Amino acid sequence: MSALTGLYKEITRCQSCKLAETRNKVVPGEGPEDASLFFIGEAPGWNEDQQGRPFIGQAGAFLEHLLSLINLTRDRVYIANVIKCRPPENRDPMLPEIQSCQKWLDLQIEIVKPKMIITLGRYSLARYFPGESIGKTHGKARVQDGVIYYPMYHPAAALHQNKLRKTIEMDMLEIPGLLSQTEKTAEVPAEVRQLNLF
Ligand code: SF4
Repeated sequence: MSALTGLYKEITRCQSCKLAETRNKVVPGEGPEDASLFFIGEAPGWNEDQQGRPFIGQAGAFLEHLLSLINLTRDRVYIANVIKCRPPENRDPMLPEIQSCQKWLDLQIEIVKPKMIITLGRYSLARYFPGESIGKTHGKARVQDGVIYYPMYHPAAALHQNKLRKTIEMDMLEIPGLLSQTEKTAEVPAEVRQLNLF
């Protein structure tokens, strides 16, 4: 059994917060164990809760479109959410729920060891860029411990505000360049490395 498969078994048994009482299916996340790109959304919605898979439905279709802009398909990237169970009526996740669920996302990232973590929307932004606004930070990468952190709007935002569609597409198109820039920089000795992707 792979490390991720073992982890999924544990996550699907999780009762660490109240969402365990109302969920239909746990949505752990999915993708290859060696994915370079790790996308983190917010929480499962109705469709995801029915199928146990992240980013199904319209937001998922738009994410697939975004990936196609950089010649990727969803099976080549890792996709997860900040919390693994659907909040009732699609309400916002609550802080205790996010805190209870954090361990699972940490373990997924530990196993996959992605080169780039892309936060989608406010809740995953808050995890890595606390106190910052998505309007100001989207599309601006930062590097820490060799990992690129890159905030983007949630794909669902484009479904509600058509004017954001182009912005999200432009941010997605930056990803290949950021990855290759970091890979080139990693070949330079640390003492002469000066990486600034802001
Ligand atoms: S949301 Fe996370 S912490 Fe809460 S029951 Fe589901 S898996 Fe467990």
